[in-house]
Amino acid sequence: MMIVMKETATDEEVEAVVEKIESAGALAHRIVGARLTVIGAIGDVEQDVNVEGLGLEGQPGVDRVMPILKPYKLASSQMTHGARTVLEIDGRKIGGDSFALIAGPCTVESREQTLQTARVVRDAGATLLRGGAYKPRTSPYAFQGLGQEGLRLLAEAKSETGLPIVTELVDMRDIDAVLEVADVVQIGARNMQNYPLLAEIGRSGRPALLKRGLSSTLDELLMAAEYILKEGNPNVMLCERGIRTFETAYRFTLDLMAVPVLKELSHLPVIVDPSHAAGRRDLVLPLSLAAAAVGADGIIVEVHPNPDEAICDGPQALRAEEFARYARAVQSAAALAGKALAGREPTLV
Ligand code: PEP
Ligand code: MN
Repeated sequence: MMIVMKETATDEEVEAVVEKIESAGALAHRIVGARLTVIGAIGDVEQDVNVEGLGLEGQPGVDRVMPILKPYKLASSQMTHGARTVLEIDGRKIGGDSFALIAGPCTVESREQTLQTARVVRDAGATLLRGGAYKPRTSPYAFQGLGQEGLRLLAEAKSETGLPIVTELVDMRDIDAVLEVADVVQIGARNMQNYPLLAEIGRSGRPALLKRGLSSTLDELLMAAEYILKEGNPNVMLCERGIRTFETAYRFTLDLMAVPVLKELSHLPVIVDPSHAAGRRDLVLPLSLAAAAVGADGIIVEVHPNPDEAICDGPQALRAEEFARYARAVQSAAALAGKALAGREPTLV
């Protein structure tokens, strides 16, 4: 249930409602908006927590009590009354009218490759640096990432360029090491339904970039986000990265309709990954322009100083020397949707 407090409700009245919900064994999530406070009362379905029976309607400060109609509650746009979540990563806003350009190599391969890419994307105005130290590879014989050494190189790239880091957590056993370095923890498509991992990221409170599973519906993606939110971590961005369909002419089908529909269903920022959807460099720019124009809150894209030599995902990586031009084009498309880049001003205009 959702308890909408009156605009005039006092802190004590909000607290009294929270206490009543918690005494019934349900979770109370406070969402404090500019005008009013909404409290989500969420009980475990199986445990039959009776929030309705608490008689909250007449309680001082309560305006109305409404059911939450979707299976996901905290992720639902109903919960925020249309207000959108804007994340702030090291002072850079993601969501609202801020567009995030997240760029970097698929995987951290070496010091030179990582620092070179970081400088290029920083100079072109990127918001965050991406790079995998732990890689979920389809083949167990493929390069699995540099691990701890990769994390160390990402930390060095951050200290040199000032760019916050997005890196993937694949295995729960590496969580402490990843949290040492990651400003945003990426949950890969293959781990979207790894529920203990999601809950652990929820408990960590660290911002998360949650990728849509290869064959997951939007409802399943939002339920996965709910696992993170439920643990008290509101810092979640959703990522459309292409899904499996009957089409075989390209690697995945980039579901751009997911962008406006997710933004209708949820208040969370929506990011698009054109690189993994396409698997081909030549499709990355047009898909990025379309994603920005359709209202995405950001793009996560792969860049490499020498894609022909890349250990992982070279064919889809943008060439570093093309990146500044790419970034300018994406910025113009984002402007069509009323958004501006959430990074530094580009130095290479
Ligand atoms: C990645 O971002 O490098 C990656 C492996 O993505 P996905 O989980 O979407 O396949
Ligand atoms: Mn990749």
